[in-house]
Amino acid sequence: MTTQHTAVHRIEIVPLPAFKDNYIWLLRVGNAAAVVDPGDDEVVERYLAQQRLDLTAILITHHHPDHTGGVAGLVARHKPVVYAPVDGRIEGVTRRLRDGDEVALAELDLHLRVMAVPGHTDTHVAYYAPGILFPGDTIFSAGCGRLLGGTAAQLHDSLLRLGALPGDTAVYCTHEYTLSNLAFAQAADPDNPARDQWLATCQALRAEGKPTLPSTMAREKSVNPFLRTSSPGVIDAVTRHTGVRPPDALACFTALRAWKDNF
Ligand code: ZN
Ligand code: FE
Repeated sequence: MTTQHTAVHRIEIVPLPAFKDNYIWLLRVGNAAAVVDPGDDEVVERYLAQQRLDLTAILITHHHPDHTGGVAGLVARHKPVVYAPVDGRIEGVTRRLRDGDEVALAELDLHLRVMAVPGHTDTHVAYYAPGILFPGDTIFSAGCGRLLGGTAAQLHDSLLRLGALPGDTAVYCTHEYTLSNLAFAQAADPDNPARDQWLATCQALRAEGKPTLPSTMAREKSVNPFLRTSSPGVIDAVTRHTGVRPPDALACFTALRAWKDNF
C-alpha cells in the first residue's frame, strides 16, 4: 500500500481502493483515523482491523452512493463524527456543513476548511487544509466530474476556486480516471508537452498497479483541459470540434464538458 506524508504534517494519507476505480482516502496519526467518502465499509473495516486503528471521523463530499454507502455500517460499529454538506439525501450525519465552516479533527491535529464546490452535484463540498485538498468528484486528474445536479457555470466557478489554491496543494481525487481523462486531454489540448509527460508518468504508475493520485494543483493547471479554458490550444480544439469559437471561458468549459460526455 502506498502512502504519502504531507509536507505540513505528520499525517499519513492512504488510498483504499474500492469498487472499480474509487479511492477511499484514509487519514491517520498514531492510531486515530478518519476517512473521506467511504462508499464501501468493508474496505475500510479491513484496513482499520489490520492496522488496529480507531475511526474517529467521516468526511463526505457529496451524496452519491459510491461516496456514502459505507457510512451506516461504520457508524454502527465505530461511532465516528460524520461531517457532510447540508443535503437531506445523506443520512447518519452528525454535523452539516456550509461554505467556510471549519472541521476540527482533534485526534488528527488537523483543521480543514469547507469549500462549497457545486457542479457535479448541487450540494458538493471539498475539504481543504494547507497542502491537502479532498475535492470529491469535482476535479480529477486531467478531468472533472459530470454535471449530475449542478450547472456548468457552477462547476466552472468551483474549478476556478480550487485552481486558485496554492500550486503545491496535493489533490486527493476520489476516482482513478486519469488515463482515460488524459486520452480526452490529447484531443482537447493537443499540443501540451506537460500533459505528454504526465501521461507517460501515469502509464508507468498504472502498469505497476499504483495510483496516479494525489496530483497537485500546479500539475492540474498545466494538464487539465477543464482548468485551461482560457488557453489558446484548448479554445482552438473546441472551435474545431463544435464549429463555433467559444466567446468566453464558461462557453469553452461548457463545450468541453459536453464533448467529454460523448468522448
Ligand atoms: Zn459522484
Ligand atoms: Fe464518485
